[in-house]
Amino acid sequence: MTPTAAMQATSPASTLFPQTPSKGRVYNFSAGPACMPECVLEQIREELIDCRGGGIGLLELSHRGALYEALNNEAEAACRKAAGVGSDYAVFFMPGGATVQFGLLPLNFVGEGETATYIDTSIWSYKAYTEAARCRNVSVAFDGRAIKYARVPKKGEFAEPAGAKYLLYCQNNTVEGTTFWAPPETTLPLIGDATSDIFSRPWDFTKHAMVLAAGQKNLGASGASLIIARKDFIASATTKLPTILRFEDHANAGSRLNTPPTFAVRVMGLMAEWTLKVGGPTAIAKNNAYKANLIWDAVDNSGGFYSWPAEKWCRSHLNVCFKTPKADLDAKFVADAESHGLFGLLGHREAGGMRASIYNAFPVHGCELLAQFMGDFAKKNG
Ligand code: PMP
Repeated sequence: MTPTAAMQATSPASTLFPQTPSKGRVYNFSAGPACMPECVLEQIREELIDCRGGGIGLLELSHRGALYEALNNEAEAACRKAAGVGSDYAVFFMPGGATVQFGLLPLNFVGEGETATYIDTSIWSYKAYTEAARCRNVSVAFDGRAIKYARVPKKGEFAEPAGAKYLLYCQNNTVEGTTFWAPPETTLPLIGDATSDIFSRPWDFTKHAMVLAAGQKNLGASGASLIIARKDFIASATTKLPTILRFEDHANAGSRLNTPPTFAVRVMGLMAEWTLKVGGPTAIAKNNAYKANLIWDAVDNSGGFYSWPAEKWCRSHLNVCFKTPKADLDAKFVADAESHGLFGLLGHREAGGMRASIYNAFPVHGCELLAQFMGDFAKKNG
């Protein structure tokens, strides 16, 4: 499975996409919280003081008031449009990041004597599995740890235990730099963790019982998650849970079961609207492919100076990872890159090396500069 035509780069995408940061700002390759479009940041700055001319700032709005209700509904509508799902799906926001949802999934859907299963392709899917294993009977459907997370499973290369309540996978592996180019085909209810790839490419949400995505990357602020779930799936959850832990209750309450993380929800709404404004996941996928290929090409054209275990066919377009032959050279790379205005390149603490996280809003020119810098650094230190 490789990127479909819609996910391939053709040329530098339209100038609607951020090209360079404004004066005083740097290229921020952070994996998350990650860089955001400056037009969104400016709108937030304005709204913090006075939201839509009502004389009250965004952080001061009552979550039961008409204005916040409108912002919440607009956020849900923009996410629904970007996802392309119909009325059989609920689109809502919940407090907390992806790890909170990892904990809630088994509590909601796996009862006494029941099971769920996990495709383990990364630190994050392993986390989802181990959190569930603390309280419920769950299994590993694909053991990526055994192959050092170098790739995702090929078609059908995972177990589907009969009767499992769901099959979870991580759509884009933020730390390992690998990705699924299509949702795995399964007869089990499929749950996708889209925390690092939501709205980054055309994606068939309707193949899923649920897709969850924490904020902090393509959705802006951390502190909340977007959930896109089939209504009949979340209705199947046990009712023997406090409402605050049940997905369906949050959906039925229109993302306002209690006082929600209002700021994060508004930011997610603005990010979804920006996604649509620049041409939606289709346009974004082309821009992301162009950006990622610049850096992966710098790895491949370095004569072996840079390397990474991820297999080429499943390389991520959002997290490009690489290392030099020596750990002390990696440290020098990160320090020298900073002196060139390229920040946040240090790899995840468990994976080492470098990681360029280039989500939807990451400026094109930053990838060109990094590719150039990589070539120069390899020449000087190789
Ligand atoms: N899943 C993925 C794919 C992630 O990239 C991350 C965070 N980088 C998480 C889960 C964990 O998210 P959180 O910190 O919001 O719990």
